[in-house]
Amino acid sequence: MIYLDYQATTPLAPEAREAMLAWLGGPESDSFGNPHSPHRMGRMAAAAVEVAREQVAALFPPGGRVIFTGSATEALNLAIRGNMPVRSGEHIAFSAIEHAAVIDTVKAIGNWTEIGVTPEGLVVPDTKMPPYAGLLAVMQVNNEIGTIQPIADMARRAKELGALLLVDGVQGAGKMALPPEADMIAVSAHKLHGPKGIGALWVRDGLKLIPHIEGGGQEQGLRSGTLSPTLCAGFGAAAKLAVERMEEDAAHVESLWRHARDAFDGWTLNGSAEQRWHGNLNIRKDGLDVARLMSECREVMFSAGSACASGSGRTSHVLRAIGLDDAQAKSSIRLGFGRYTTKDELERACSIILEAADSQG
Ligand code: PLP
Repeated sequence: MIYLDYQATTPLAPEAREAMLAWLGGPESDSFGNPHSPHRMGRMAAAAVEVAREQVAALFPPGGRVIFTGSATEALNLAIRGNMPVRSGEHIAFSAIEHAAVIDTVKAIGNWTEIGVTPEGLVVPDTKMPPYAGLLAVMQVNNEIGTIQPIADMARRAKELGALLLVDGVQGAGKMALPPEADMIAVSAHKLHGPKGIGALWVRDGLKLIPHIEGGGQEQGLRSGTLSPTLCAGFGAAAKLAVERMEEDAAHVESLWRHARDAFDGWTLNGSAEQRWHGNLNIRKDGLDVARLMSECREVMFSAGSACASGSGRTSHVLRAIGLDDAQAKSSIRLGFGRYTTKDELERACSIILEAADSQG
C-alpha cells in the first residue's frame, strides 16, 4: 500500500515509538506510575511528562505554556469554551475554511461571523468584522487545500478589534514556525509523526482560561484527567525530531511536490500554489468520478476532499468557500505526502491514479 494521506494522519516516527515503549509499563517495570502521584514512581512519570512538555514547547514561540489535551479538537474546544470574553457573550469571528473542530464549537456557543476567503483559499484580512469580537480564529495551514494563511495580518485585525487570536496550528506544527502573534495555538501529535490521542494547547503567558473539564485539577487546573506518560513521551520525541528535521523535511517535500505537479500537468490546482504547504496537492479534473477512481486505486491511500468531509456525502465547505461548484468539488482529490514518502512510491502512485483517471475518458 502507498500512503498519500498525510493531512489525515502521519506514520509514527520510529523515535517516537521507541520513546513510548519505555513508558508502556508492565508489572515488572517501574514505568507505569501515575504522573500525579507523589511517590517515586509517580515522580519518575511526572519527570517524563515534563521532558515531553519542554520538547513540545519548542514547537511554539517563546512566552507561553503548553497544556496537554486528548486531541487538537479538545485543545480548540478548551480555547473557545474556556475563553472569558466568549463566555460573557462576545462575538467570535472565524475563517470560512476552518476545521469543523472550530466551526462547530463556535456555532454551538453563540454569536459568530464567518470571514470569507479568496478563490486562492486565503483569508482576506480586511474583511468587515463586527467591532466587538472577543475571539478571532484562523488556521495557519488549511487541511484540505494546504493554503498558508496571512496570520500576521489577522493578528493586526485582532488587535484593532481588541480580540484574542486563536490559531489552529495542526497542519503547520513541526513543518514551519508557529506564529508568534497568536494568543493560543492548538496542535495534534498524530499530524507530526507522534501518537494519536494527544494534542496540546499553547496559551500565551498571562492569559487566563476557564477549565472545560473539571476533576482532579491536572494540567494547571485546565484539563483534569490522568495524563498518559506514554503518549506524552511519544509526542515529545516526535516534536523534537520535527524541530531538528524541519529544513530537511521541507526540502524533501519540495522535491516530491515538483514531481507530483509535473505528473498531474493539465489538472487544476485547488488553492494557491505559492502560499501553500507543498505536502498537500489538492487537484481536480473535469468530469472525474472520484468514487470510481478511489475504488480502482485501492493500493493508494488518498482522499476525496478532506478526510473529515469525505464519507459524509456533503460537499467540502472549503472547496465551496473558494468558489468551486458541486461538480468541481466532487472531481477533486487530495494527495498528501511527507517525511517518509519515497520518490519511488510517489511515482508509482501517480502512475496508478493517472492510468485509472485516463481510463475514464
Ligand atoms: N484542525 C485541523 C486543521 C485538522 O486537520 C484536524 C484533523 O484533521 C484537527 C484540527 C483535529 O485534530 P485531532 O485529530 O487531533 O482532533
